[in-house]
This record gives sequence, C-alpha cells and structure tokens, in this order.
Amino acid sequence: MAYLDHIKSVEDLDLKGKRVFIRVDFNVPLDKGVITDDYRIRQALPTIQYVIRNGGLPIVASHLGRPKANPSPDCSLAPVAERLRELLPEREIIFADDCIGDGVVEMSKKLQPGQILLLENLRFYEEEEGKPRGKFATEEEKAAAKDAVKASQKKFAAALASLADVYVNDAFGTCHRAHASMAKMVPAFGNNKACGFLLQKEIKFLGNIVYDPEHPYVAILGGAKVSDKIGVIESLIEKCDQICIGGAMAYTLLAAKGVDVASSRVEADAMDVAKAILEKAANSKCELLLPVDHVVSTALDDTTPCEIVESFSAGQMGLDIGPKTRELYANVIKKAKSVFWNGPMGVFENARYAAGTIAVATALTECDGCTVVGGGDSAAAIRQFGLDSKVTHVSTGGGASLELVEGKELPGVEALRIAE
Ligand code: AMP
Repeated sequence: MAYLDHIKSVEDLDLKGKRVFIRVDFNVPLDKGVITDDYRIRQALPTIQYVIRNGGLPIVASHLGRPKANPSPDCSLAPVAERLRELLPEREIIFADDCIGDGVVEMSKKLQPGQILLLENLRFYEEEEGKPRGKFATEEEKAAAKDAVKASQKKFAAALASLADVYVNDAFGTCHRAHASMAKMVPAFGNNKACGFLLQKEIKFLGNIVYDPEHPYVAILGGAKVSDKIGVIESLIEKCDQICIGGAMAYTLLAAKGVDVASSRVEADAMDVAKAILEKAANSKCELLLPVDHVVSTALDDTTPCEIVESFSAGQMGLDIGPKTRELYANVIKKAKSVFWNGPMGVFENARYAAGTIAVATALTECDGCTVVGGGDSAAAIRQFGLDSKVTHVSTGGGASLELVEGKELPGVEALRIAE
C-alpha cells in the first residue's frame, strides 16, 4: 500500500502513560447549538477508545465552524463535549475552555487514565489557519497582518505541541489544510506521530482508488459547478474508463457542446473551461457521459409541474437526470470494479428531483467493486437514503477527498510521513 508507506498507525505507537494529542474533525453541523449530525464524532471514537485502552491519555482537539473572534460562543465545542458524554458514558470528558495556555497545560498534566480532555475550538486562534480575520483598508495592511499571524503561528503550534508526548491525526476532513494543528505542530513529535483508524481507513480506500484502481474505474460527478471540480475532472479523465456527469454541472457541459439547455443553471463564465474538458475527454480513452434525458420544470418549488424531456423548451430548467440516464449510469456503475462518486445528480433536497441521486446511490450498492463516496452532499445523500452501510467507504471529507482524488498531496498526511 504505497500511499500509506512510512506512515505509522496509532497501533505502532507506545501509548502507555503518554499524553496523546488526537487531532479530530468534529466540525459538525449545529442548529442553534444542537448537533444535527454526529457522524464525524462517532467516526473518531475507535481511535480515542484505543488510546485509552492502551494506557494513553487523550487530549482531543478540533475546529468547528468559522469563528469570527476569540472566543465565539456559537462555535464552541461545548455541545460536542456533551455529545461525547452521551456516546461514551463510561468515560469522563473534561472540557477545557481554551486550547492553549497555562490552565490547559495544567489540565493535560493532571489527566488520569480513562479521562478525555477535549480542547476548545482551535480556530478561536487565527494562528490555527495562519490567516488574519477581519477586513483591511489596504493590501499593505492585509499583508502585514498576514505576516504577523504567520510569525505567531509558530508559537501557537509550539504551545499545542507542549500539551502532549505523542501526536495522532484522525481528522481526514481537514488534511488538505496545512494548519497549525494539522502540520505545523507535528515535527515537534519526531517519530512519535501516527494516523488514527479513521484517517487510515480514508487513505486506504481513497488511496487505493487514486493510485491503484481496478478497472473498469468509473467516476460519478455531480453538483452545482464545473468550475469547482475542474482539477478533479481533468485528473479523472486520465484515469477513469467512464465518467458519468449529472447535477447542474452537466448543463454547463451540455451548453458548451452547443445543446440548448433553456433556463437550466449554466456557468456562463466557465464555457472555455467546459469546452477544454470536453476536448480533453474526446482525446482520451475515457468516455464522458452526459445526461440524455432530464426532469425539468419552469420553477424550483413544490407545486409547478415537472416533466421528463429529452430536449428543452423555452423556460424549462433541468433539475434531475431522467429515467433513461439513470438506467444508463446505473448499468455503467454496476459493471465497474472501482467507483468514485462525488456530487448529487439533481436538486436532491427536493424529493421530486432526488430520483437520479437515489438511482446512482442504489447502483453503487449493487456494484461488486470498490465503491467510494466522496464527502459533502453525496455522503449526506447516501446516508439520508440509508444506503451508506452497503458501499465500501463513505468519506468524512469533501474537500480533502476531492484533492486526494485529484492527485494532490495532503499536508496533514504528508506531515505524518517518517523520514526513511
Ligand atoms: P456541490 O456543492 O457542488 O456538490 O453542489 C450541490 C448542490 O447542487 C446541491 O445543493 C444541489 O441542489 C445542486 N444541484 C444539483 N443539480 C442541480 C441542478 N440541475 N440545478 C440546480 N442545482 C443543482
């Protein structure tokens, strides 16, 4: 498994009596302080429990939301501490109201076996991301503020590192960011660094598909914009046997082909990019499949009638792939040996336009190959349909999984590599 070479697993570390900094991704959706989906929290539990069972003292750290100041009560990890108490009733969860400082150091030193110390939101500090908050009057001021944050980021990373003896990264969803807790603090641990079980699972399945896919390798791409996914599409054209496109991005590509898509959502400023993608696909061995029929309406609401069409009339917009396309894509998916899916096939939030996304999700469950769902909307969709346990892997990271599939290095993963 080349991608995992020179990266230790948490199982390779000596944890007994050690304070273990576990960087997790507890960036969960909140509605008025209530966690609406705790999937990411539950996914990190095996690593935390393993550390405790092996005599380690877990110090768990995460970011949450986009705090505008330090502190930002609406982005506090306090609700996460509460949820951890419900999920791990046998453990004592100690919640620190900061992530660095003398008080936190003291708490980390007093930690007892079986306890978990959860730190407050790392992003309360600008140094975590290494970029200044707020607005600046001039570019010079902005550049000066950026330099200042970069300079103090080292201190912040050192303060985080001083809390623990060992570093474990289980935050796949943030691995595409070279933030203080993901990369900058890691060298302080020498070789006492490793990936947790979730990160290991993510890079095993995604790494497999990116670096050593069994063929036929099929990608299903959907969602709003072509421009968000250019790098991924270009990279997949080089590797895949077939790419099935759905969602609004299909209409930008169809428009670039000269098809009249009436009032469908089209990125007018991405036409050149869309044409370049079509040309690249035409000159490759990869077959780029676009929808052949559509579920259309003249308004996106629950009352305006919708219908199935193969060509558009004035005022109609494509809101989902039609039945012929569903069948075409499902047949391609079922024959694949490796499948990567990112992005819904239509406006799946509205039940009238969810059939295409459901058809793709169902076809994935009927495929005998390795089926991987990138994070974000497609992960939410497959869980919403109750089909998540029937695919090989549902990633917890949207941006991170796309960057990995694109072939980019993930700074959070690279920081874990042990020099030969
Ligand atoms: P993304 O974040 O790029 O994965 O895009 C997901 C969003 O694209 C979802 O909110 C969908 O409702 C939206 N979407 C998918 N298909 C269409 C479509 N045909 N027209 C407009 N929006 C769409």
